[in-house]
Amino acid sequence: MDALENLLADLVRIDSVNPDLVPGGAGEAAVAAFVADWLQGVGIDAQLEDVRPGRPNVVARLRGSGGGRTLMLNGHLDTVGVVGMDSPHSPRVAGGRMYGRGAYDMKCGLAAAMLALVAIRERSTPLRGDVLFTAVIDEENAGLGTRAIAERYTADGALIAEPTELSLIVAHRGFAWHEIETHGVAAHGSLPEEGVDAIAHMGRVLVAFEGLQRVLASRPAHPLLRTGSLHAGLIRGGQELTSYPASCVLGLERRTLPGETLEVIEAEYRGILERLATDDPAFSATLRPLLACSPMETDPQGPLATAVRAAAAATLGQEPETAGAPFWTDGATLAEVGIPAVLFGPGGAGAHAFEEWVDLESVRQCVAIYARVIDGFCA
Ligand SMILES: [Zn+2]
Repeated sequence: MDALENLLADLVRIDSVNPDLVPGGAGEAAVAAFVADWLQGVGIDAQLEDVRPGRPNVVARLRGSGGGRTLMLNGHLDTVGVVGMDSPHSPRVAGGRMYGRGAYDMKCGLAAAMLALVAIRERSTPLRGDVLFTAVIDEENAGLGTRAIAERYTADGALIAEPTELSLIVAHRGFAWHEIETHGVAAHGSLPEEGVDAIAHMGRVLVAFEGLQRVLASRPAHPLLRTGSLHAGLIRGGQELTSYPASCVLGLERRTLPGETLEVIEAEYRGILERLATDDPAFSATLRPLLACSPMETDPQGPLATAVRAAAAATLGQEPETAGAPFWTDGATLAEVGIPAVLFGPGGAGAHAFEEWVDLESVRQCVAIYARVIDGFCA
């Protein structure tokens, strides 16, 4: 095994299952301590910063000589759970792949970023800008680690080392969660003149929102993200079979495009509920916001995307694909505070699945690419 395989194997060996995702999960403390010690061992000053008790981010900075741009290299320390996996924390190498929980999502990206820092630090000519390395907790659940970084640090751009199959990801959709409650009148099931059926009224809401989903699908597509979408995720209502239900609650998830703000979305939702109330004075519903996270859209011709494209082309011999991702990432948290973010990382498969592996050659390529991005962006 070479230095890269050893480092990645060491990271996979340390259980860092997100404890908010899986009760009793090991958490990030041990892997964070390992990353900080490893960096100290190669002469890079690294700090542990508790985000939650016993759940620290790792932050390290390579200082430039001044006058250049600062690049943040970001990756997450936590993994999803391991139920159903065979020896998830015993990394094994076969056929150019490393198998194990986190090998792909995303200890490979962390290892590549750490080795790129070493390559930059060992050079005689210093950079002008700084490199800020942030290894964060809790990306797989609520994104608390990157939120803490966004509050305390700034940079001119952030490269998130998530696995992207060596594609440059410059955009992804956001999401907004809402609850709608229909209000009925509880009554004995034998008294239709007294009862108002909140569940039946929710049926009208479901039909109307299915219509809105068709409208969203027919709107002009974003060049990288296609269209926004909407689905009913959860529903509950009623007390027992023999009564008219007083309440029915629907949980809705909307996947949002850039420009689809919470105000825009809630105006659409309220419009639907008001129309239903106009059609039937007995209809009554309440809209409640739960959580919303914005989309990410970084200029594909801006300095960061350009630096990544050039670095990847120099290493791989051809320009990487520039694309959007279907899922939400920590990049949006950084974009919200004015740090343009992109994702670029190794290839593999099995994120969140029973069998997870990373292509080791692509991780090696990422070490070279990240070092070239730092050179190009911070020079
Ligand atoms: Zn990930």
